[in-house]
Amino acid sequence: MMTPFRRSVLSVGLAAALFALPVSAPLDSAMAGQRSYAATHGAAPFVTQHLIPGSNLDLAQVDLTLPGAKVVALTIDDGPDGHDPHILDILRAHGAKATFFYIGAKIPEHHDIAKLVAASGNEVGSHTQTHPMTTDLKPAEREWNLAQAEKALASVGVMATWFRPPYGDVDDALAALARHHGMATVLWTADSQDWKDTGPDIIRRRIVERLVPGAVVLMHSTKAATVAALPAILEEGQKRGLRFVTMTEWEAAMRQSVTPELALLHPAPRRR
Ligand SMILES: [Zn+2]
Repeated sequence: MMTPFRRSVLSVGLAAALFALPVSAPLDSAMAGQRSYAATHGAAPFVTQHLIPGSNLDLAQVDLTLPGAKVVALTIDDGPDGHDPHILDILRAHGAKATFFYIGAKIPEHHDIAKLVAASGNEVGSHTQTHPMTTDLKPAEREWNLAQAEKALASVGVMATWFRPPYGDVDDALAALARHHGMATVLWTADSQDWKDTGPDIIRRRIVERLVPGAVVLMHSTKAATVAALPAILEEGQKRGLRFVTMTEWEAAMRQSVTPELALLHPAPRRR
């Protein structure tokens, strides 16, 4: 039912052709076995163990052709940031929702913005306290990083139920620790690579080519080009009949579209 990790390693050549490789992620073979799929390939396929590690939702059973599955989770990392109020305006103008993955250490300096976002009807998740390559940390350091972020988020009224590991770097122990803190871990299927300081047009194109039902889009609120690209991305998605929802709404939509017969018909992942 689950794709064994071994298989991903064997298909690295194919995956490398399919996914744009992040230049910031360490790709030497010594580390590749320890990093998650998203960290080594740039994005995760639509497969439970890679996209939402440790979840009991079997994405292989989700019928993405159902009307209820026509949702996209827009995730915006690395805030709180001065761009966030503008992003809120754009989302509101398009009837769209997003999930902001906040870095705990940035919350004190952007306290009012974080509170504004938390109260806006969008979702706020944890992106750790200090944005480390988290699987390099010792267990006690991991626990400190998640617990500190939890406190920082609580100071703006957020009890996060979603965790986004920096660089997509996660292992089973980290996903389990996140669960212990009440959070499910989620990676992404569509990477804007906006951190490369590319213009809004390239950011829009990278997202739009992966804008399909069930997509989880990764963007960053720290880049002006991302904010500039956002309206066109939302408009293209809406043209395709897609609704932009929070992670929690995305998960509910995926669960409602579970069709167990699908796993029997298509035992292999149907799409990336
Ligand atoms: Zn980040």
